[in-house]
Amino acid sequence: MDIEKLYSVAAECERALEGEFARIDANACACTDKVMEAFRKNRLSASHFASGSGYGYDDVGRDLCDRLFADSFGAEAGFARHSITSGTHALAIGLYALLRPGDTLYSVTGKPYDTLEGIIGIDGRGAGDGNLADYGIKYRQTELGEGSKIDLERVKSVLCEDKSIKVVFVQRSKGYQDRRTLSASEIDELYALVKSVSDAYVFVDNNYGEFCEPTEPKADLLCGSLIKNAGGGMAECGGYIVGSSRAVELASYRLTVPGIGLEAGPSAGQNKSLIKGLFYAPHTVAQALKSAVFAASLFERLGFDVYPKASEPRYDIIQMIYLKKRENLIRFCQAIQRYSPVDSFALPMPDAMPGYADEVIMAAGTFTQGSSIELSADAPLREPYSVYMQGGITYESAKYTLIRAAGEVLDGD
Ligand SMILES: *Cc1c(COP(=O)(O)O)cnc(C)c1O
Repeated sequence: MDIEKLYSVAAECERALEGEFARIDANACACTDKVMEAFRKNRLSASHFASGSGYGYDDVGRDLCDRLFADSFGAEAGFARHSITSGTHALAIGLYALLRPGDTLYSVTGKPYDTLEGIIGIDGRGAGDGNLADYGIKYRQTELGEGSKIDLERVKSVLCEDKSIKVVFVQRSKGYQDRRTLSASEIDELYALVKSVSDAYVFVDNNYGEFCEPTEPKADLLCGSLIKNAGGGMAECGGYIVGSSRAVELASYRLTVPGIGLEAGPSAGQNKSLIKGLFYAPHTVAQALKSAVFAASLFERLGFDVYPKASEPRYDIIQMIYLKKRENLIRFCQAIQRYSPVDSFALPMPDAMPGYADEVIMAAGTFTQGSSIELSADAPLREPYSVYMQGGITYESAKYTLIRAAGEVLDGD
């Protein structure tokens, strides 16, 4: 299909998406209100952008940044650090912080994200690397029920019967799975249930869900990456953890050491990008949501199944497109790369990746390496050859790239 024809299909999509775009804008406003209130209440000033060094004692900018994250998420406490390597690292900090030998980690959303398998010790590599199993921490899971809903009845009976459960784990976003993303209110319902029958902590893998809804889920810990939603496309690296005071305190002892917690750890020049990233996050997430909705509409019109559909409610920024064939998947990812602002000359190829079971192809022509709030596409090379695309720090640039990717898939097909 020639590019002019594709642009006219894109224009049809945009006309049909006016209502969706308006809903996304309204959500961005609601989330921005929370963030603006946090900034005002905490009296951010230019002096907070000064950089701490060394041990980072009295790094007031870092402390203020922590408060901004906690308040923006509606949490009692929290921290954001450039020194947290990734979303996986943030999750590991939280898990090691709350679990003790003899405790059980209980996932209520089935198998967690691939990179957590090695942390839990269910990746088949056995003992020795210091995974949770090495420390005598047990693991069990309950699959999602009908319609990818949390099986609350089953969860209740497991919690009543197994008193060793210390952490109830929820993955909010679908990740690389073929399932629904949970809404914040569904997680709130789980939270109420857990608290009514046990003392367990509720722990949420919040990656990709931040600022997609006006309020974040209730939890003792919410963890995520700053090169996804919560970094607003501005943070250069890092992760965050927010939640209840005690759980965050325990996490702070795992971030540094017991007794030091959040007292040390210099912001080392990263403070401004983290704070500015949080300021941008609701807007940037809206750009990503519009890009996802546009991709859904475009590929659907071109004859591909998509999930979620353009008009379905969405609680994260991930868009799945069922590309039917391995070759389409590779072509799509290569085109996303070819029409990206950075590294457009690189050619992504399927390969093995540490932490992932299948071969994976990843396209990310991003300003920040591996950032997936910037337009990026990943796919495990397995049936039904669905690509997971996410991000777009400007809708306009994502539209440019997606139209061209659609053209290349159609030409190859
Ligand atoms: C991205 C992601 C992670 C891991 O984050 P990394 O920064 O890639 O380590 C964990 N869970 C979910 C649902 C994710 O989307």
